[in-house]
Amino acid sequence: MSEPITLRDLAGMSVERLKGVGPKKLASLEKVQIENLFDLVTTYPRRWVDRTNEARIADLVPGEEALVLVTVRSVNKRMTRNRRAMVNVNVGDGSGRMDVVFFNQPWRERQLKEGLQIALFGKADTYRGGLQMSNPVVDLIGDRTGRIVPIYPQSEKAQINTWEMAGWVEETLRRCAARGIADPVPSAVRSEHRLIPRSEALEGIHLPEDMKQKERARRRLAFDELLRVQLVLVLRKRALERGQHGVTHTPEGELVERFYDSLPYPLTGAQRRTIDEIFADLANPHPMHRLLQGDVGAGKTVVSVAAMLVAVQSGHQAALMAPTEVLAEQHATSVREMLDGVTVPDPDNLFGDRPLRIELLTNRVTGAARKDVLAGLADGSVDIAIGTHALIQDAVGFESLGMVVVDEQHRFGVEQRSALRDKSAGGRMPDTLVMTATPIPRTAAMTVYGDLDVSVLDELPPGRTPIVTMWANGTLMETGVWRDVRSEVEAGRQAYVVCPLIGESDKLEVASAEETFERLANDELEGLSLGLLHGKLTPDEKEATMDRFRSGEIDVLVATTVIEVGVDVPNATVMVILDADRFGIAQLHQLRGRVGRGEHASTCWLVTQQTDPEVDASNPRVEALVETTDGFALAEVDLALRGEGTLMSSAQKGRSDLKLASLRRDRNLVELAREAAFSIVDSDPDLAQHPLLADELDMIFSDQDEEFLSRS
Ligand code: ADP
Ligand code: MG
Repeated sequence: MSEPITLRDLAGMSVERLKGVGPKKLASLEKVQIENLFDLVTTYPRRWVDRTNEARIADLVPGEEALVLVTVRSVNKRMTRNRRAMVNVNVGDGSGRMDVVFFNQPWRERQLKEGLQIALFGKADTYRGGLQMSNPVVDLIGDRTGRIVPIYPQSEKAQINTWEMAGWVEETLRRCAARGIADPVPSAVRSEHRLIPRSEALEGIHLPEDMKQKERARRRLAFDELLRVQLVLVLRKRALERGQHGVTHTPEGELVERFYDSLPYPLTGAQRRTIDEIFADLANPHPMHRLLQGDVGAGKTVVSVAAMLVAVQSGHQAALMAPTEVLAEQHATSVREMLDGVTVPDPDNLFGDRPLRIELLTNRVTGAARKDVLAGLADGSVDIAIGTHALIQDAVGFESLGMVVVDEQHRFGVEQRSALRDKSAGGRMPDTLVMTATPIPRTAAMTVYGDLDVSVLDELPPGRTPIVTMWANGTLMETGVWRDVRSEVEAGRQAYVVCPLIGESDKLEVASAEETFERLANDELEGLSLGLLHGKLTPDEKEATMDRFRSGEIDVLVATTVIEVGVDVPNATVMVILDADRFGIAQLHQLRGRVGRGEHASTCWLVTQQTDPEVDASNPRVEALVETTDGFALAEVDLALRGEGTLMSSAQKGRSDLKLASLRRDRNLVELAREAAFSIVDSDPDLAQHPLLADELDMIFSDQDEEFLSRS
């Protein structure tokens, strides 16, 4: 019984044990999801009031709810005309005085004595030239000496106020004091990152002596939340790696050198850095699981090609999987172009070289051509395969698949990725590189894609003409948009028009696209050659339309968001997004990335219906897009606007939630937690030496939580 108390112990004790918690309060607490003492002590104050320089009467604003800490000066009771009790209390602090009235609470006369320290929470109004509060929430704090008063989330509905919460938490912590509270985080980690002990942190967050102590406490408890998440991810990552035998590649070789020499431009610093990171993984016998993040146009393809060539020069094959046929074909074209003339050193060949063989495999490759590709994959004569999910169908076998690149990962499920990896021969797991053009902040990535390593291409190749983004608010400005489209088309350029996003309904979306198409064809853009692209077309129809747009036969492509991913038509210089305020930041950014791909300057028009400038002229997402083209900066704004919760499982509110830690504010702490998780797991792979930590994870994370965290 003298063992320190663990979080699991606390979770095993009902709040019923606390003073003043009877059936009624028990029900109230249940309503706010506080059933046990763990729930209670991890319900943290919303804010902390420093009574020495906040909460003064002089600062009260009439009509606004506020808290004041005051001394009772006088108390009077009288009856109103309709025989109701009215208790009048005059209170004051160093800054001023105020009247407080209580109706129908005759017992206040006995409760509130002159000289008593109380906290009042309520709305102050002006009354007869002075301030007055009626029926405020009252707490006697005469015996609470702390300078700082914690304010807990209150629930009017559940009838729980901050004072009760504070009392219960205080009682809980006091009753823990004898045994102490266990600290599962190794002391080496604690001292390395200057973290205070957990018991001190719980005291410090709930009953701080000063704000500094509260901050130290918050840092420690936020670290714990992040460490637990990272431990789940890192344990999972390491377990995956243990079960897998990978391929050891040799990054140093002539083929890769030849490739660099053949490029018409030098690599950017970011490309060189990410290539180094990837090559280090490739040289390692563990299979790589790496995420390559890079904005549209950052040059991810070159990086992935370098990685694939390492596999080829090491005697293996590589595959690149794209989410759509259009994208797969585009990749095949650009990779072939990039590798045109690059030959493979071949010791078996008298002349020392053989040509590189790159093949496309989609459902459109049929008959003899398909047979030929399949045979080449199976006998190893195809070096690089580029395709869609056709690559993972049963009939496809590789002789020795050593490297897999998956583009635009959000379109693929985990299963599809692992299916491709399973195509490896001899039970060896190929290295995997997942590329995404949807940047998310690095620390968020560490959580969302926590079982992957992350490389970031955060530098665009030089010489790009930045896309100018403009907001057209209302019909008047929209006229200018169509004028711009016309003049670009007259100058030989092309344009996209993206139709409003309509809820969840595909049908409505198609209807709206058709309507917009009709309207533009007969009115604003009459006389231009328009094409229509939406989700209800067959793949062949879509492809035919895309071909006509690519060849320049179509001037303006009216489309739903089906064009979001990867379409590359360098001659398109105008992107018009209708009802732009209905899209999310990431989606707008993706759509905008369809232009600015060629030598000509490009424009992106964000069209919204006229908003009343007085009321809601502000449109933070549209404004963010106008402000910057930097995907990472936008990702930060997005995170800030949407809040934190969206990163974790939204369906699961509960123990595993981040209550104190913020992925945005606590970036540094995320990094420390990840580092600590690696050092713990790498010295103790199944946490056998850290039973408390293991137990805590087990208690806090449900299976669904772990599933969610590891989904990527
Ligand atoms: P991403 O896939 O990241 O959107 P791509 O790989 O398609 O970007 O590259 C975009 C364009 O930039 C391509 O036309 C490519 O040839 C060019 N590019 C890539 N790297 C460089 C570089 N270091 N310098 C100049 N141009 C580059
Ligand atoms: Mg790309």
